[in-house]
Amino acid sequence: MQNNNTTLKLTPKSGLTTREIATRTTKYGPNELVAARPVPLWQKIWRHMSDVSSLVLLFAVGLATYLAIAQNGGWTKTIVIGTILIINVVIGLYQEASAEKSLAALKSMSLPTANVRRNDDVQTVDATAIVPGDLVLLKAGDQVPADAVVLESTNLAVDEAVLTGESEAVEKRPYVTGAPVAEQQVYSGTAVTAGTALIQVVTTGMATELGQIAGLLNKTKQRATPLQGRLNRLSSWLTTFAVLGGMTIFALSVWVQNQGIGDSLMIGVSLAVAAVPETLPIIVTISLSHGVRRMADRNAIMRRVSAVETIGSVDVIASDKTGTLTQNQMTITKLWTPTTGVLAADTPLTSGSRELMRYLGLATNAEINQVDGEEQAIGDATELAAVRWLADHQQSRAGLERDAPRIAEDPFDSTKKMMTTVHRLADGRQLVIVKGAWDRLPFRADLPSLKAGQRAHDAFGQAALRVLAVGYRVLAADADISDWDAVNRDLQLAGIVGLIDPPRPEVVAAIRDAKQAGIKPIMITGDHLVTATAIAEEIGILTAGDVAVSGDQLREMSDATLREQIEQIAVYARVSPSDKIRIVQAWQALGKSVAMTGDGVNDAPALKAADVGIAMGITGTEVSKEAADMVLTDDNFATIIAAVKEGRTVYQNIIKAVEFLVGVNFAQIFLMVGAVLFGWGAPLLAEQLLIINVLADGIPGFFISQEPGEPLAMQQPPVANDESILARGLGQRLFVRAATFTALTLGIYAVGRFGLTDNQASVGMTMVFLVLALGSMIDIYAIKDRRTMSWDTLTRNPRLNRGLLAGILVVLVIATVPPLRAFFSLTALPAVSWVIVLAGVLVPTVVLELNKRWQRRQRYAVEVAE
Ligand code: ADP
Ligand code: MG
Repeated sequence: MQNNNTTLKLTPKSGLTTREIATRTTKYGPNELVAARPVPLWQKIWRHMSDVSSLVLLFAVGLATYLAIAQNGGWTKTIVIGTILIINVVIGLYQEASAEKSLAALKSMSLPTANVRRNDDVQTVDATAIVPGDLVLLKAGDQVPADAVVLESTNLAVDEAVLTGESEAVEKRPYVTGAPVAEQQVYSGTAVTAGTALIQVVTTGMATELGQIAGLLNKTKQRATPLQGRLNRLSSWLTTFAVLGGMTIFALSVWVQNQGIGDSLMIGVSLAVAAVPETLPIIVTISLSHGVRRMADRNAIMRRVSAVETIGSVDVIASDKTGTLTQNQMTITKLWTPTTGVLAADTPLTSGSRELMRYLGLATNAEINQVDGEEQAIGDATELAAVRWLADHQQSRAGLERDAPRIAEDPFDSTKKMMTTVHRLADGRQLVIVKGAWDRLPFRADLPSLKAGQRAHDAFGQAALRVLAVGYRVLAADADISDWDAVNRDLQLAGIVGLIDPPRPEVVAAIRDAKQAGIKPIMITGDHLVTATAIAEEIGILTAGDVAVSGDQLREMSDATLREQIEQIAVYARVSPSDKIRIVQAWQALGKSVAMTGDGVNDAPALKAADVGIAMGITGTEVSKEAADMVLTDDNFATIIAAVKEGRTVYQNIIKAVEFLVGVNFAQIFLMVGAVLFGWGAPLLAEQLLIINVLADGIPGFFISQEPGEPLAMQQPPVANDESILARGLGQRLFVRAATFTALTLGIYAVGRFGLTDNQASVGMTMVFLVLALGSMIDIYAIKDRRTMSWDTLTRNPRLNRGLLAGILVVLVIATVPPLRAFFSLTALPAVSWVIVLAGVLVPTVVLELNKRWQRRQRYAVEVAE
């Protein structure tokens, strides 16, 4: 990192003006890392053309052309296969573009913001709008939005691991000419772990240090998700099978039927093309990007596409209590002081409660301002409750501070669970106020009221109240307050307050849903065990057989003990952010996948370690969002469950697509090979197979990705990491479907050729064409919903219905309009054949419906009950 600040021109304290911002925006552009250069269209086309299935099709086009020239006619195959090739590539390009579009929209939803000083006013802007010269205010938890020089700072420490790989936080000091550069500069993308600062931006966007290496980052490819991996294995297996099928039919055609090599090759290649489920990878991509969009509609922003799948398969959801399970709307309802005992917070003040209120007010940082007649609350919910309590009794922080101005602060953090302020009293002495967790405050050992305080604390906790204790001491005017450990001791007890933070109303149902879906919900909180237990029982997280442990108990457990007991633990109280990572790892050691929420800087490691890290959109720090896979825009636990449901729906839709695409492909191979073995010759021609493949596989398969979720999604246990794709009855269903189609089409062919006519192959062929094309389109209705078919299941995906209707019309047009019919070597059917065809078309659907009932009685009854 080089020195580029020796000639720094300081921006005035008031910040840039609107005019300056405009000219600089034009000059330097937006502050963003430009994605890799867009791939040109010809490259995309080239990529799609070099797919295995496209290459095979291309080969088939060449072969068909060669045959047409050699045999002097019969250009049908060239035209049909050429068209199919073009359609395949166009569909591929279109689907890729639509997936890219929804991902781009996603990126713009999770843009970071920054606080800047402009026109002598502090405002929050999108980080992309920052220009060189801007003055930016940083606080712990922020992400540095651009490369900048530190102008002012207090205890500023920055984690520069993104750039240096060094995870130890670096301390930064304000800009002094001649000092080491690294101590004066902060870099885009790094995280503020402590302190506050005012910085002046030097470079933005691609000119930053991060921008220099962003070019490298763009090149790293997204890893395949577990499901994609499994599907890839399935695909290569199927491809092998299809190729073998194609080779078999080629060999049979040459040696059994004595056809020419060229024609035999043609039918072999076509069968292989038809039998490869080439649309599967596209359907997976489309389904995932749909999932992303639907989750965004439900307030869950996915930062990584693969998380769509992972969230659907989590076994454990470990959630913060405050603000996620509860409303984060705190109110002080009770108080206790040594002189008054327990009082309701709205009773008139006595001297004891007035003193407690004074100390609490002085030690508070929150503010409630009236802006344009509207209340604007700034600060932590716990402290806002204190400010409201003051206001209810006609007091204010500002009023209290006039008599005892604050001279120092040791800020709150969720590891030590307390904070200290020091005030100058009128007589010159220093007043130390410490507020925080009852069991963390260092009271004087000889206080007579500690026992009574403990009783009040426990009673408040049992009433599900969050408890805040307040202690104080007075130091001489010249006492040294530079060492906080020396200051925070020997406290007098002012009293305690109990705050109510009601659970979110929708959380009870969400927890019930999670449990029904085989997911273990866990509560994590810094609050006391008693409080945590009371709330956990209220919302149903802690039920018979579950236990609650405190952070101290947790720290005493060895990793092995923790692994043994973890399945019973539903509540972790008085924990620090650093305990979270242990909880994640213990579950993972048992092979479970874990979703974990977090909002602070210290939560980032646990969010990264979790299978799905979940950050809070409202109260979360930029750093926690950056570390997360998913951001909740409403901070709500119920949103996580909604996302699980969407994730599972995506998974199920992909499985349904597999079921739909794969079964018939097997049937096609068995039909072709079987018919030849029976000595009937090929029952379908290459171009017929291929058109069925496009119409009956491609179109309905595509719309399955848009199928809305069904209740089953949340009634089954999560998918294990190593679960086979054929589990949960899919293997059996594939077999039933393939067997049904094979028997049906062979039977129909025989009826058409030998029953209805006297050995007229074209009638058999036309009937097989219709039954296979229409039958494998219509049976999607039995596949797309695991429930018994009903009007609701038939109509809940209108786009599928429209697509299917179009597909059916095309098939009927091909089979009835004479020139097209001739083009595809089909023939006019007598009326009775049509009746048989229509009956045959319905057979697979009926069989699959019956099989569904049978499966439900057999294995699903067991699985759902588990
Ligand atoms: P949670 O994870 O539930 O938000 P915290 O770690 O923030 O828990 O808080 C734990 C305890 O610290 C609370 O029970 C309370 O006693 C105390 N506490 C919380 N917020 C503050 C604050 N702003 N100032 C002082 N003490 C606090
Ligand atoms: Mg908190």
